[in-house]
Amino acid sequence: MHLQSTKTLANGVEMPLVGLGVYKMTDPEETIAAITKAIQVGYRAIDTAALYYNEEQVGEAIRHAGVPREELFITTKVWNSNQGYDRTLKAFEVSLKKLNVEYIDLYLTHWAIADKFVDTYRAIERLYDEKLIRVPGVSNHHEVHLKQLLHSANTPPVVNQVELHPYLSQQPLRTFCTENNIAVTAWSPLGRGGVLTDTTIQQIGEKYEKTAAQVVLRWHLQNDVLVIPKSVTPSRIEENAQIFDFTLTDEDMATLNSLNRNQRFGQDPENFHFDF
Ligand code: NAD
Repeated sequence: MHLQSTKTLANGVEMPLVGLGVYKMTDPEETIAAITKAIQVGYRAIDTAALYYNEEQVGEAIRHAGVPREELFITTKVWNSNQGYDRTLKAFEVSLKKLNVEYIDLYLTHWAIADKFVDTYRAIERLYDEKLIRVPGVSNHHEVHLKQLLHSANTPPVVNQVELHPYLSQQPLRTFCTENNIAVTAWSPLGRGGVLTDTTIQQIGEKYEKTAAQVVLRWHLQNDVLVIPKSVTPSRIEENAQIFDFTLTDEDMATLNSLNRNQRFGQDPENFHFDF
C-alpha cells in the first residue's frame, strides 16, 4: 500500500484510500495552497461539498496541479436545502460549473433529509446513468436510510461517508455496509483533532515512532475505511500521508477498536439540524 493506493469499489471504480478534506477552508488562497501542496505530496483525492463554499478553489487548484484530471478523484455533495429530485439535478449543475470540470468522481447526498433523501438519491442515480458522475453515494446515512435506498434504487449507493474515529468506531454500520458492498469513508477521521491527545493512542504511536494522527489514520486503513483528513498546514498534510511504512499489530488494532465511546464531534444523522 502507498499514498496512491486505491480501493476497488462495488462498481469497479478505483477510489484513493486517502484524500484531503477541505471543510472549513474558507480563505481562498489558503485553500488553493493546501490542495496544491497535497497533490504535490501525492494525494489524488479531494473531498469538498457545496456547503463548504470552496468548490471554485478546488477547481482552480486541480486545474493548475500538473496532474491529469483523470488521475484525480473529486468528491462533492448536494446540500440539504437543495435536496429532492429536480433540485439535486440543478445543484449538481452548479457544482459542476463551480468546479469547472466535466464530471465528478463521487457525488453524495450530504445528509438523509427524511422526506427527500430517496428522491435525492434517484437524481444521483440519473447523473450516474448519464455518466456525469463515476460513483453514486451518500453521506451520514444510517442503516435505516441505507435499507430504504437498497430497496428503492437500481444502483445501490457505492460509498457511505460518515463520522468515524476511535471514539465513534461505527462497527455495526461498517458491518452492514461491508455486507452490502458499500465502501465506508471516515469524515472527521481524527475526530477534528479531538482524539489526538488520547494517551493510549500516543503510547501506541511511540512504539512505531509515529504521531497519534498517523496511528489513527493507519487504524482506519487497516479497518478497510477510506480517510479524508483535513489540514491546511503543509507539515501536517505530509504527516497525514506518511502512514504506509508501518503496520499496527492485531493487538494494537484491538486496543484502538476498544476506545469506542459512541462520541460524536459532529451531528447525529438520526437527529440533526436541517441547515447549519
Ligand atoms: P479531521 O478529523 O480531519 O480533523 C481536522 C483537524 O485536525 C484540523 O483542523 C487540524 O486542526 C487537526 N489536524 C489535522 N491533521 C493533524 C495532524 N497531523 N496533527 C495534529 N492535528 C491535525 O476533521 P474534519 O475536517 O471535520 O473532517 C475531515 C473532512 O471530512 C472534512 O474536511 C470534510 O471534507 C469531511 N467532512 C464531511 C462531513 C459530512 O457531513 N459528510 C462532515 C464533516 C467533515
